[in-house]
Amino acid sequence: MKKTIDNIDASGQRILVRLDLNVPLDGCGNITDDRRIRSALPTIKKLVDNGGRLILITHLGRPKEEADRKKLSLAPVAKRLSELLGKPVPLANDSSGYATTALANALTDGEVCLLENLRFNPAETIKDKQAANDPALAEQKQTFAQQLADLADVYVNDAFGTCHRDNASMLTVPKLMKGKPRVAGYLVQRELGFLGGAVTAPKRPFVCILGGAKVSDKLGVIRSLLEKCDTILIGGAMAYTFLAADGIDVANSLTEPDLFDTARSLRKDAGDRLRLPVDSIAATNIANDAETQSCGETIPKGMMGLDIGPKTVAAYRDVILAAKTVVWNGPMGVFEIPPFDAGTIAIAETVADATDAGAITIIGGGDSAAAIDQAHLSARMTHISTGGGASLEFLEGKPFAAIDALDDA
Ligand code: AMP
Repeated sequence: MKKTIDNIDASGQRILVRLDLNVPLDGCGNITDDRRIRSALPTIKKLVDNGGRLILITHLGRPKEEADRKKLSLAPVAKRLSELLGKPVPLANDSSGYATTALANALTDGEVCLLENLRFNPAETIKDKQAANDPALAEQKQTFAQQLADLADVYVNDAFGTCHRDNASMLTVPKLMKGKPRVAGYLVQRELGFLGGAVTAPKRPFVCILGGAKVSDKLGVIRSLLEKCDTILIGGAMAYTFLAADGIDVANSLTEPDLFDTARSLRKDAGDRLRLPVDSIAATNIANDAETQSCGETIPKGMMGLDIGPKTVAAYRDVILAAKTVVWNGPMGVFEIPPFDAGTIAIAETVADATDAGAITIIGGGDSAAAIDQAHLSARMTHISTGGGASLEFLEGKPFAAIDALDDA
């Protein structure tokens, strides 16, 4: 257990709050989904109400070149935050330097400022492994982290989506702030509670639904979940690697042949606890107006399996509705392009029904969260993680150094 913002006295303190406000922007710089900003509000409001002086930090996108400074500026985020909080949120034009320090030092109790995109400074994303072999990189990362650490009396980590990374602001800063309070925000507390609860003491039956494009991305999580859950339901292109490994003709479906051996051995170990689709929706191309064909396990010549079929939906529905804990990560098909979204939507509706029937339902962020949102089913899930990659790594059982660096309760 880690200390949280409930364990600190925020009044009059300069508080560095690491958030994950990495929101999607359209080509004109408009925020297309402000969920990550809204998810950060409980922590911000609590600290503001208690008289903290808040220095908010986050990354946005993956800036590479000078032109990205404009495209990936946090200006739209500062504006949206200000609207949601009902108070000004000035944006420092850098995350370090004289003007940034001056802005942070000028805050009075209950005031908030936001520092510009942390990733504009390349030091933010230098990995500790790289730094270990390169003293110049180590120095660069340390210097940047020290500048951030010097801004504040208290460190708060509420950036769950970035907790699996050893970024300067996530790990080096709390290490440098040893001796000062370093605590988790409400979002991190909530994520750890739900995801941790699911993997350490799940109510059974515990069912995991895994989809998406590649087995290789999810091997670790499949292996780890097989030890913990009762059934894994596989969908998405991943399924075709398993089917092809079994000698089934999946025609032009996306597969990873170099993983056939691994897929076979996983299936052998899992027995009937690992379930594969019994039918698919296939097409020759991925387009709204593509001609589709329903098929069984075998995909017709020249076609690709692009969604799970109705028999699979029905079979998976029985398993999901009998579950007491459901964890879902990854779409069941090419959900971005109808009609290949049908299987994913049907599973989303089934998971929502499972919540209504009393199951704890946890969505592992990313594409499954987007699909659920698209289907207006978000309110009917117990918990939707804000971190796709982070939630997968957490479920995989990987330790999070950024969380370890916070104070124990
Ligand atoms: P991932 O990032 O691994 O969770 O994969 C998500 C992506 O997998 C989405 O963009 C889906 O369109 C894609 N996907 C899911 N099912 C299929 C499929 N049967 N064939 C091709 N792509 C798929």
